[in-house]
Amino acid sequence: MAGRVEGKIAFITGGGSGMGREHAILMAEEGASVIVTDVNEAGGRETISMINAKGGQSLFINFDVSSEAAWQAAVNQAVSTFGRVDILVNNAGIFMVKMIADTSSEDLDRMLNINVKGVFYGCKHILPAMQKAGGGSIINISSIYGVIGAPAASAYQASKGAVRILTKSVAVEYAQYNIRCNSIHPGAIRTPMTKDLMSSEEATKALLASTILRRPAEPREVSYPVLFLASSEASYITGAEIMVDGGYTTV
Ligand code: NAP
Repeated sequence: MAGRVEGKIAFITGGGSGMGREHAILMAEEGASVIVTDVNEAGGRETISMINAKGGQSLFINFDVSSEAAWQAAVNQAVSTFGRVDILVNNAGIFMVKMIADTSSEDLDRMLNINVKGVFYGCKHILPAMQKAGGGSIINISSIYGVIGAPAASAYQASKGAVRILTKSVAVEYAQYNIRCNSIHPGAIRTPMTKDLMSSEEATKALLASTILRRPAEPREVSYPVLFLASSEASYITGAEIMVDGGYTTV
């Protein structure tokens, strides 16, 4: 049976850990060749060995998404290896727990450089390749914090709000080239990023107070919606924002 993204070429940032790793593994299970990228060399290499051990095809590229020159080089390498890129998952990101008053200009720069410029450059440099290939699907990973307010997360919220609306700009500009662009907004997902936030039963309970399903998600529960948007099953969906949050933003 053909996979849901059979024969497609998928480029995933932050694929060396957490959700990015799971997105990469699921895409490979569903028939895509996967370019796994990360600044975490060991994690990225581990992801591609997991894919290749199951007979999948993957390539690791170590690069920092906040560098435009590095993006250009990584996209060139992906296209020269696989001929084109059909799917981009802009997943790499960082988190920070700080009140506005404690957030330094350096903190804000780092957050925006990785979480916003990283996604912007990703779109900017993959779009010409997708255009040349006749179309594609971009999935930008925002957050529920890109949609609703929360304490001690202002820099992160500013970054994820930017990703939400940037997604719609790309959708509008590139629909004419058969390129779709959507955002995913995860809630509380069990990954290395949230390890500290879920370090005790009490902390986890507080984090989940507004999650109506009353539990955190496993990464794969986000990977399936990402896969759906990447596949032709979502051929009429663009500029959309999909909450994957156990109902957090519902009440
Ligand atoms: P994670 O486990 O920390 O994975 C993120 C990966 O991105 C790490 O391997 C990290 O490397 C890498 N990375 C960080 N900065 C980078 C850069 N400048 N260039 C390239 N790679 C970089 O996080 P996750 O929880 O899977 O999160 C994935 C995405 O989902 C993020 O965008 C996050 O904001 C978003 N999200 C997460 C949650 C959640 O509950 N976990 C909720 C909403 C949204 P290092 O480990 O070396 O830093």
